[in-house]
Amino acid sequence: MKKYNFNAGPSILPQEVIRQTAEAVLDFQGEGLSLLEISHRAKYFQPVVDEAVALMKEVFHIPEGYSVIFLGGGASLQFCMVPFNLMERKSAYLNTGVWAKKALKEAKGFGEAVEVATSAEANFTFIPTDYEIPQDADYFHITTNNTIYGTEISDDKLKDIYAKKGKVTLVADMSSDVLSRPIDISQYGLIYGGAQKNLAPAGVTFVIVRDDILGHVTRHIPTMLDYRTHIEGGSMFNTPPVLPLYSAMLTLRWLKQNGGVEGAEKRNIEKARVLYDCIDKSKIFVGTAKEEDRSRMNVCFVLKPEYQELQDDFMKFATERGMVGIKGHRSVGGFRASLYNAMTIEGVKALVECIGDYEKKL
Ligand SMILES: *Cc1c(COP(=O)(O)O)cnc(C)c1O
Repeated sequence: MKKYNFNAGPSILPQEVIRQTAEAVLDFQGEGLSLLEISHRAKYFQPVVDEAVALMKEVFHIPEGYSVIFLGGGASLQFCMVPFNLMERKSAYLNTGVWAKKALKEAKGFGEAVEVATSAEANFTFIPTDYEIPQDADYFHITTNNTIYGTEISDDKLKDIYAKKGKVTLVADMSSDVLSRPIDISQYGLIYGGAQKNLAPAGVTFVIVRDDILGHVTRHIPTMLDYRTHIEGGSMFNTPPVLPLYSAMLTLRWLKQNGGVEGAEKRNIEKARVLYDCIDKSKIFVGTAKEEDRSRMNVCFVLKPEYQELQDDFMKFATERGMVGIKGHRSVGGFRASLYNAMTIEGVKALVECIGDYEKKL
């Protein structure tokens, strides 16, 4: 039976990326060696890193003056690397969910980390807009897509943030919506994310950083935690995670061949529209996020109170129809369908049909 992968992360990747990665594991570019056993130095791997960096810059329209690096440690290591490298005394955070809160918690270990606003009291169902950004903060941190709660900072709300940040450096965790839409990179000092949502298998983290924001804190930064180490080392200061990095390069090639972030955005808008339409018309389901803040990447929905007892039954029905990974995160409950770049409109339509057929048989 065909399976449709709606996992939140690690998550779906383009079929050809999986196939080409598997081929490279068996025989790396006809060398008679596996990707798993070649040196990351010398002629073999450097071109892969160079191509990944070049494609990231090209596809995501990263201007001059920025570096792209690939690291280990996940987005979670960035929660502390960001304040370590950028926070002298004060930082500010928009708390829109579990990941934002974890990032904020780390920053508190480095000085005054201000929570400018939160939607915690509404179980993070919306993106707050009513706040000021303290102009004496070393940076302002946002999470552009809240993977667990299914909210995303819309283009309009991002523009509001650009307007109100003043001279404060903007930092974003884009783990779960990177490359899903065009972004005005010039507005950001630093963008990071775990690659396992929209780019690669788990194990590699991307960082896009404007070079001139580094080198201004007075504390000692351990070599491995200093962004400059990895910029100077071309992501090869130490052994990089070669397999996920190879896949990331392949995903970027795939994205470029498929209309870049502009093409991805068009498909993502359409996929999200089809699924939200179905949920909005459903007699048993309801979406959890406020409409204007709905994520295109993670669609969260729950059973209406009078249908709560159908939770396990629908889960079983959907699983039998090949739907994988649609169980909601425990902090929201219900269901979550993740529609990352590699999810096809056919996959979304299969889920919509599954929901429709379930309702028909009630
Ligand atoms: C998944 C996720 C993280 C955590 O990433 P790790 O690579 O597992 O540390 C952080 N932020 C967001 C928005 C995420 O979706």
